[in-house]
Amino acid sequence: ELLELGTKESERVRVAVRLRPKNAEDLADADYAECVELQPELKRLKLRKNNWSSESYRFDEVFTESASQKRVYEAVAKPVVESVLDGYNGTVMAYGQTGTGKTYTLGRLGKEDASERGIMVRAFEDILAGTSASDSVEVSYLQLYMESIQDLLAPEKINIPIVEDAKTGEVSAPGVERVKIRNLDHFLQLVQLGEVNRHAANTKMNTESSRSHAILMVYIRRSAHEKEETDIGQQEEIPIGRHGHNVPTIRKSKLLIVDLAGSERIDKSGSEGHLLEEAKFINLSLTSLGKCINALAENSPHIPTRDSKLTRLLRDSFGGSARTSLIITIGPSSRHHAETASTVMFGQRAM
Ligand code: ADP
Ligand code: MG
Repeated sequence: ELLELGTKESERVRVAVRLRPKNAEDLADADYAECVELQPELKRLKLRKNNWSSESYRFDEVFTESASQKRVYEAVAKPVVESVLDGYNGTVMAYGQTGTGKTYTLGRLGKEDASERGIMVRAFEDILAGTSASDSVEVSYLQLYMESIQDLLAPEKINIPIVEDAKTGEVSAPGVERVKIRNLDHFLQLVQLGEVNRHAANTKMNTESSRSHAILMVYIRRSAHEKEETDIGQQEEIPIGRHGHNVPTIRKSKLLIVDLAGSERIDKSGSEGHLLEEAKFINLSLTSLGKCINALAENSPHIPTRDSKLTRLLRDSFGGSARTSLIITIGPSSRHHAETASTVMFGQRAM
Protein backbone atom coordinates (compact mmCIF):
# COMPACT_ATOMS: atom_id res chain seq x y z
CA GLU A 1 0.00 0.00 0.00
CA LEU A 2 3.00 2.29 0.50
CA LEU A 3 3.80 2.03 -3.17
CA GLU A 4 1.19 4.60 -4.14
CA LEU A 5 3.04 6.54 -6.80
CA GLY A 6 1.92 10.05 -5.99
CA THR A 7 -1.42 11.41 -6.98
CA LYS A 8 -0.73 12.61 -10.49
CA GLU A 9 -1.43 9.33 -12.18
CA SER A 10 -4.60 8.66 -10.22
CA GLU A 11 -5.94 12.15 -10.81
CA ARG A 12 -6.08 12.05 -14.51
CA VAL A 13 -8.64 10.18 -16.49
CA ARG A 14 -7.72 6.87 -18.00
CA VAL A 15 -9.12 6.71 -21.53
CA ALA A 16 -9.63 3.57 -23.60
CA VAL A 17 -11.17 3.14 -27.01
CA ARG A 18 -13.09 0.01 -28.05
CA LEU A 19 -14.08 -0.86 -31.58
CA ARG A 20 -17.27 -2.84 -32.10
CA PRO A 21 -17.20 -5.67 -34.67
CA LYS A 22 -19.04 -5.13 -37.94
CA ASN A 23 -22.76 -5.44 -37.46
CA ALA A 24 -25.49 -6.62 -39.81
CA GLU A 25 -25.85 -3.15 -41.28
CA ASP A 26 -22.12 -3.02 -42.05
CA LEU A 27 -22.20 -6.49 -43.58
CA ALA A 28 -25.15 -5.64 -45.80
CA ASP A 29 -23.59 -2.38 -46.94
CA ALA A 30 -22.37 -2.69 -50.55
CA ASP A 31 -20.27 0.46 -50.14
CA TYR A 32 -18.84 -0.55 -46.80
CA ALA A 33 -15.50 1.05 -46.03
CA GLU A 34 -13.60 1.23 -42.80
CA CYS A 35 -12.77 4.59 -41.30
CA VAL A 36 -10.50 3.45 -38.51
CA GLU A 37 -7.36 1.40 -38.22
CA LEU A 38 -6.14 0.26 -34.81
CA GLN A 39 -2.59 -0.38 -33.69
CA PRO A 40 -3.25 -1.81 -30.24
CA GLU A 41 0.40 -2.54 -29.43
CA LEU A 42 1.19 1.14 -30.04
CA LYS A 43 -2.05 2.15 -28.30
CA ARG A 44 -2.84 4.10 -31.39
CA LEU A 45 -5.92 4.69 -33.49
CA LYS A 46 -5.80 6.04 -37.01
CA LEU A 47 -8.87 7.79 -38.25
CA ARG A 48 -9.22 8.18 -41.98
CA LYS A 49 -9.75 11.73 -43.11
CA ASN A 50 -10.10 10.97 -46.79
CA ASN A 51 -8.66 8.54 -49.32
CA TRP A 52 -5.16 9.89 -48.91
CA SER A 53 -4.61 10.77 -45.32
CA SER A 54 -5.43 9.79 -41.80
CA GLU A 55 -4.93 11.28 -38.37
CA SER A 56 -3.32 9.32 -35.58
CA TYR A 57 -4.39 9.40 -31.91
CA ARG A 58 -2.96 7.80 -28.79
CA PHE A 59 -5.04 6.34 -25.98
CA ASP A 60 -4.22 4.60 -22.71
CA GLU A 61 -5.69 1.42 -24.18
CA VAL A 62 -6.87 0.47 -27.65
CA PHE A 63 -9.19 -2.52 -27.96
CA THR A 64 -9.85 -4.12 -31.32
CA GLU A 65 -13.12 -5.81 -32.20
CA SER A 66 -11.74 -9.10 -30.91
CA ALA A 67 -10.79 -7.86 -27.42
CA SER A 68 -12.54 -9.93 -24.78
CA GLN A 69 -14.81 -8.57 -22.08
CA LYS A 70 -12.33 -9.87 -19.53
CA ARG A 71 -9.43 -7.94 -21.02
CA VAL A 72 -11.43 -4.74 -21.23
CA TYR A 73 -12.50 -5.12 -17.61
CA GLU A 74 -9.03 -5.85 -16.36
CA ALA A 75 -7.37 -2.97 -18.16
CA VAL A 76 -10.02 -0.34 -17.67
CA ALA A 77 -12.19 -1.02 -14.66
CA LYS A 78 -10.28 -3.29 -12.31
CA PRO A 79 -7.86 -0.57 -11.12
CA VAL A 80 -10.85 1.62 -10.30
CA VAL A 81 -12.56 -1.22 -8.42
CA GLU A 82 -9.39 -1.91 -6.44
CA SER A 83 -9.12 1.69 -5.43
CA VAL A 84 -12.80 1.70 -4.40
CA LEU A 85 -12.08 -1.33 -2.21
CA ASP A 86 -9.26 0.72 -0.66
CA GLY A 87 -11.76 3.39 0.34
CA TYR A 88 -11.71 5.86 -2.55
CA ASN A 89 -14.55 6.78 -4.85
CA GLY A 90 -14.34 5.86 -8.50
CA THR A 91 -16.13 6.13 -11.83
CA VAL A 92 -16.19 4.04 -14.98
CA MET A 93 -18.12 5.45 -17.89
CA ALA A 94 -18.83 4.68 -21.51
CA TYR A 95 -19.28 7.35 -24.15
CA GLY A 96 -20.17 6.80 -27.78
CA GLN A 97 -22.75 6.81 -30.51
CA THR A 98 -25.81 4.60 -30.02
CA GLY A 99 -25.13 1.06 -31.21
CA THR A 100 -21.36 1.10 -30.67
CA GLY A 101 -21.26 -1.10 -27.56
CA LYS A 102 -21.60 1.01 -24.41
CA THR A 103 -24.19 -1.26 -22.85
CA TYR A 104 -22.43 -4.37 -24.14
CA THR A 105 -19.22 -3.21 -22.48
CA LEU A 106 -20.75 -2.13 -19.17
CA GLY A 107 -24.04 -3.87 -18.65
CA ARG A 108 -23.95 -7.25 -20.35
CA LEU A 109 -25.12 -9.82 -17.79
CA GLY A 110 -23.80 -12.89 -19.61
CA LYS A 111 -26.37 -15.21 -18.11
CA GLU A 112 -25.77 -17.95 -20.65
CA ASP A 113 -22.09 -17.36 -21.12
CA ALA A 114 -20.09 -15.91 -18.24
CA SER A 115 -17.27 -14.90 -20.58
CA GLU A 116 -19.67 -12.31 -22.03
CA ARG A 117 -20.13 -10.55 -18.72
CA GLY A 118 -19.54 -6.85 -18.81
CA ILE A 119 -17.92 -4.44 -16.42
CA MET A 120 -20.81 -4.12 -13.95
CA VAL A 121 -20.92 -7.83 -13.20
CA ARG A 122 -17.16 -8.28 -13.12
CA ALA A 123 -16.75 -5.26 -10.87
CA PHE A 124 -19.38 -6.62 -8.55
CA GLU A 125 -17.72 -10.03 -8.43
CA ASP A 126 -14.45 -8.39 -7.40
CA ILE A 127 -16.22 -6.26 -4.82
CA LEU A 128 -17.84 -9.34 -3.29
CA ALA A 129 -14.52 -11.14 -3.25
CA GLY A 130 -12.79 -8.13 -1.70
CA THR A 131 -15.24 -7.52 1.14
CA SER A 132 -16.27 -9.61 4.11
CA ALA A 133 -19.60 -10.41 5.73
CA SER A 134 -19.16 -7.55 8.20
CA ASP A 135 -18.87 -5.00 5.39
CA SER A 136 -21.92 -3.53 3.74
CA VAL A 137 -22.39 -3.45 -0.02
CA GLU A 138 -25.42 -1.60 -1.35
CA VAL A 139 -26.59 -0.83 -4.84
CA SER A 140 -28.67 1.91 -6.43
CA TYR A 141 -29.63 2.02 -10.07
CA LEU A 142 -31.07 5.14 -11.62
CA GLN A 143 -31.61 6.86 -14.89
CA LEU A 144 -31.18 10.49 -15.67
CA TYR A 145 -33.54 11.72 -18.35
CA MET A 146 -34.04 15.39 -19.19
CA GLU A 147 -32.40 16.49 -15.93
CA SER A 148 -34.72 14.30 -13.89
CA ILE A 149 -33.56 11.35 -11.79
CA GLN A 150 -35.70 8.25 -11.87
CA ASP A 151 -35.09 5.24 -9.63
CA LEU A 152 -34.78 2.14 -11.80
CA LEU A 153 -35.31 -0.12 -8.79
CA ALA A 154 -38.48 1.77 -7.77
CA PRO A 155 -39.66 3.41 -10.99
CA GLU A 156 -42.58 5.24 -9.36
CA LYS A 157 -39.94 7.50 -7.83
CA ILE A 158 -39.17 10.31 -10.24
CA ASN A 159 -37.71 13.81 -9.99
CA ILE A 160 -35.49 12.74 -7.12
CA PRO A 161 -33.35 15.61 -5.83
CA ILE A 162 -29.57 15.55 -5.43
CA VAL A 163 -28.20 16.53 -2.03
CA GLU A 164 -24.68 17.72 -1.35
CA ASP A 165 -23.22 17.71 2.13
CA ALA A 166 -21.71 21.16 2.60
CA LYS A 167 -19.08 19.86 5.03
CA THR A 168 -17.90 16.62 3.47
CA GLY A 169 -18.76 17.38 -0.14
CA GLU A 170 -20.53 14.04 -0.27
CA VAL A 171 -23.14 13.80 -3.01
CA SER A 172 -26.24 11.68 -2.57
CA ALA A 173 -29.79 11.26 -3.77
CA PRO A 174 -31.46 10.09 -0.55
CA GLY A 175 -34.73 9.41 -2.36
CA VAL A 176 -33.15 6.64 -4.40
CA GLU A 177 -33.43 3.08 -3.08
CA ARG A 178 -30.26 1.47 -1.82
CA VAL A 179 -30.46 -2.27 -1.74
CA LYS A 180 -28.12 -4.32 0.40
CA ILE A 181 -26.74 -7.08 -1.78
CA ARG A 182 -26.37 -10.60 -0.51
CA ASN A 183 -24.64 -12.34 -3.39
CA LEU A 184 -23.98 -12.26 -7.11
CA ASP A 185 -27.36 -13.74 -8.05
CA HIS A 186 -29.11 -11.06 -6.04
CA PHE A 187 -27.08 -8.43 -7.88
CA LEU A 188 -27.89 -9.93 -11.30
CA GLN A 189 -31.59 -9.95 -10.43
CA LEU A 190 -31.51 -6.29 -9.44
CA VAL A 191 -29.69 -5.15 -12.56
CA GLN A 192 -32.14 -7.09 -14.67
CA LEU A 193 -35.05 -5.55 -12.81
CA GLY A 194 -33.50 -2.15 -13.49
CA GLU A 195 -33.26 -2.93 -17.20
CA VAL A 196 -36.89 -4.04 -17.35
CA ASN A 197 -38.00 -0.89 -15.51
CA ARG A 198 -35.86 1.25 -17.76
CA HIS A 199 -37.41 -0.23 -20.84
CA ALA A 200 -40.95 0.17 -19.45
CA ALA A 201 -40.35 3.74 -18.35
CA ASN A 202 -38.96 4.69 -21.72
CA THR A 203 -41.83 3.06 -23.56
CA LYS A 204 -44.24 5.00 -21.38
CA MET A 205 -42.42 8.28 -21.99
CA ASN A 206 -42.17 7.36 -25.64
CA THR A 207 -38.40 7.73 -25.75
CA GLU A 208 -35.38 5.53 -26.39
CA SER A 209 -33.07 4.24 -23.66
CA SER A 210 -30.30 5.78 -25.71
CA ARG A 211 -31.63 9.23 -24.76
CA SER A 212 -31.02 8.76 -21.04
CA HIS A 213 -28.00 8.08 -18.86
CA ALA A 214 -28.11 4.95 -16.70
CA ILE A 215 -26.05 5.04 -13.52
CA LEU A 216 -25.27 2.11 -11.28
CA MET A 217 -23.96 3.08 -7.86
CA VAL A 218 -22.26 0.65 -5.53
CA TYR A 219 -21.76 1.83 -1.96
CA ILE A 220 -19.24 0.08 0.23
CA ARG A 221 -18.91 0.55 3.98
CA ARG A 222 -16.12 -1.26 5.72
CA SER A 223 -15.17 -1.22 9.34
CA ALA A 224 -11.44 -1.62 9.50
CA HIS A 225 -10.40 -2.51 13.05
CA GLU A 226 -7.04 -0.90 13.63
CA LYS A 227 -4.07 -2.82 14.93
CA GLU A 228 -4.52 -2.92 18.73
CA GLU A 229 -6.51 -6.13 18.91
CA THR A 230 -5.68 -7.14 22.46
CA ASP A 231 -8.73 -8.94 23.79
CA ILE A 232 -9.45 -10.88 20.65
CA GLY A 233 -12.07 -13.20 22.11
CA GLN A 234 -14.37 -10.31 22.95
CA GLN A 235 -13.88 -8.12 19.98
CA GLU A 236 -17.11 -8.76 18.19
CA GLU A 237 -19.25 -7.99 21.22
CA ILE A 238 -17.72 -4.59 21.83
CA PRO A 239 -20.08 -1.89 20.58
CA ILE A 240 -18.57 0.35 17.99
CA GLY A 241 -16.57 3.21 19.46
CA ARG A 242 -17.07 2.24 23.11
CA HIS A 243 -13.53 1.23 23.88
CA GLY A 244 -10.68 3.60 23.20
CA HIS A 245 -8.30 0.82 22.27
CA ASN A 246 -10.55 -0.67 19.64
CA VAL A 247 -12.25 2.08 17.70
CA PRO A 248 -13.13 0.79 14.28
CA THR A 249 -12.75 3.26 11.48
CA ILE A 250 -15.61 3.18 9.05
CA ARG A 251 -14.50 3.63 5.49
CA LYS A 252 -17.09 4.59 2.95
CA SER A 253 -16.55 4.60 -0.78
CA LYS A 254 -18.61 4.27 -3.89
CA LEU A 255 -18.26 3.10 -7.44
CA LEU A 256 -20.28 4.67 -10.24
CA ILE A 257 -20.76 2.89 -13.54
CA VAL A 258 -22.25 5.25 -16.07
CA ASP A 259 -23.82 4.21 -19.37
CA LEU A 260 -24.12 7.60 -21.04
CA ALA A 261 -26.81 8.70 -23.47
CA GLY A 262 -25.88 8.24 -27.11
CA SER A 263 -23.37 10.88 -28.14
CA GLU A 264 -24.82 11.42 -31.62
CA ARG A 265 -25.55 15.09 -31.85
CA ILE A 266 -29.23 15.48 -32.25
CA ASP A 267 -29.90 18.02 -34.88
CA LYS A 268 -31.59 20.77 -32.95
CA SER A 269 -32.56 22.63 -36.08
CA GLY A 270 -34.57 19.68 -37.37
CA SER A 271 -36.29 18.94 -34.07
CA GLU A 272 -39.18 20.61 -32.42
CA GLY A 273 -41.27 20.36 -29.29
CA HIS A 274 -40.36 17.49 -26.99
CA LEU A 275 -37.55 16.22 -29.19
CA LEU A 276 -35.94 19.63 -29.18
CA GLU A 277 -36.11 19.79 -25.38
CA GLU A 278 -34.67 16.29 -25.13
CA ALA A 279 -31.84 17.18 -27.50
CA LYS A 280 -30.99 20.28 -25.48
CA PHE A 281 -30.77 18.30 -22.25
CA ILE A 282 -28.60 15.57 -23.71
CA ASN A 283 -26.29 18.07 -25.30
CA LEU A 284 -26.16 20.01 -22.03
CA SER A 285 -25.16 17.03 -19.90
CA LEU A 286 -22.61 15.60 -22.33
CA THR A 287 -21.09 19.00 -22.98
CA SER A 288 -20.85 19.71 -19.29
CA LEU A 289 -19.33 16.26 -18.71
CA GLY A 290 -16.78 17.05 -21.42
CA LYS A 291 -15.85 20.31 -19.68
CA CYS A 292 -15.35 18.54 -16.35
CA ILE A 293 -13.24 15.82 -17.91
CA ASN A 294 -11.09 18.40 -19.69
CA ALA A 295 -10.60 20.24 -16.42
CA LEU A 296 -9.62 16.97 -14.74
CA ALA A 297 -7.18 16.12 -17.50
CA GLU A 298 -5.58 19.53 -17.12
CA ASN A 299 -5.32 19.09 -13.35
CA SER A 300 -7.38 22.19 -12.93
CA PRO A 301 -8.26 22.96 -9.30
CA HIS A 302 -11.78 23.84 -10.36
CA ILE A 303 -14.00 21.20 -11.92
CA PRO A 304 -17.18 22.87 -13.21
CA THR A 305 -19.72 20.31 -12.01
CA ARG A 306 -22.62 22.69 -11.42
CA ASP A 307 -24.00 22.86 -14.93
CA SER A 308 -25.89 19.55 -15.15
CA LYS A 309 -27.36 16.87 -12.91
CA LEU A 310 -25.04 14.33 -14.48
CA THR A 311 -21.90 16.17 -13.40
CA ARG A 312 -23.40 17.06 -10.02
CA LEU A 313 -23.96 13.36 -9.37
CA LEU A 314 -20.39 12.61 -10.37
CA ARG A 315 -18.94 15.45 -8.34
CA ASP A 316 -17.40 13.43 -5.49
CA SER A 317 -16.56 10.47 -7.70
CA PHE A 318 -14.05 12.01 -10.01
CA GLY A 319 -11.10 14.28 -9.41
CA GLY A 320 -9.20 14.47 -6.14
CA SER A 321 -8.49 11.00 -4.81
CA ALA A 322 -11.15 9.39 -7.01
CA ARG A 323 -10.17 7.35 -10.02
CA THR A 324 -11.92 7.71 -13.34
CA SER A 325 -11.89 5.55 -16.44
CA LEU A 326 -13.58 6.51 -19.67
CA ILE A 327 -14.25 4.03 -22.43
CA ILE A 328 -15.16 5.46 -25.75
CA THR A 329 -16.91 3.09 -28.12
CA ILE A 330 -16.88 3.37 -31.88
CA GLY A 331 -18.06 1.46 -34.94
CA PRO A 332 -15.83 0.69 -37.93
CA SER A 333 -17.90 2.01 -40.83
CA SER A 334 -16.99 5.20 -42.66
CA ARG A 335 -20.71 5.89 -42.90
CA HIS A 336 -20.51 7.12 -39.33
CA HIS A 337 -17.23 8.94 -39.80
CA ALA A 338 -18.49 12.22 -38.37
CA GLU A 339 -19.81 10.65 -35.16
CA THR A 340 -16.72 8.50 -34.77
CA ALA A 341 -14.46 11.53 -35.20
CA SER A 342 -16.44 13.46 -32.61
CA THR A 343 -16.27 10.53 -30.16
CA VAL A 344 -12.51 10.20 -30.69
CA MET A 345 -12.08 13.93 -30.02
CA PHE A 346 -14.12 13.65 -26.81
CA GLY A 347 -11.75 10.91 -25.67
CA GLN A 348 -8.66 12.87 -26.69
CA ARG A 349 -9.71 15.91 -24.71
CA ALA A 350 -9.97 13.74 -21.63
CA MET A 351 -6.29 12.79 -21.76
P1 ADP B 1 -24.99 1.07 -27.20
O1 ADP B 1 -25.28 0.73 -25.78
O2 ADP B 1 -23.74 1.89 -27.35
O3 ADP B 1 -26.14 1.68 -27.91
P2 ADP B 1 -24.97 -1.79 -27.52
O4 ADP B 1 -24.08 -2.15 -26.40
O5 ADP B 1 -26.42 -1.98 -27.32
O6 ADP B 1 -24.68 -0.29 -27.98
O7 ADP B 1 -24.44 -2.58 -28.80
C1 ADP B 1 -25.14 -2.62 -30.02
C2 ADP B 1 -25.09 -4.04 -30.57
O8 ADP B 1 -23.75 -4.40 -30.90
C3 ADP B 1 -25.58 -5.07 -29.60
O9 ADP B 1 -26.28 -6.05 -30.28
C4 ADP B 1 -24.29 -5.63 -29.00
O10 ADP B 1 -24.46 -6.94 -28.53
C5 ADP B 1 -23.34 -5.56 -30.16
N1 ADP B 1 -21.95 -5.32 -29.71
C6 ADP B 1 -21.45 -4.15 -29.27
N2 ADP B 1 -20.15 -4.26 -28.97
C7 ADP B 1 -19.81 -5.53 -29.21
C8 ADP B 1 -18.58 -6.27 -29.09
N3 ADP B 1 -17.45 -5.69 -28.66
N4 ADP B 1 -18.61 -7.57 -29.45
C9 ADP B 1 -19.74 -8.15 -29.89
N5 ADP B 1 -20.91 -7.51 -30.02
C10 ADP B 1 -20.96 -6.22 -29.71
MG1 MG C 1 -27.03 1.18 -24.71
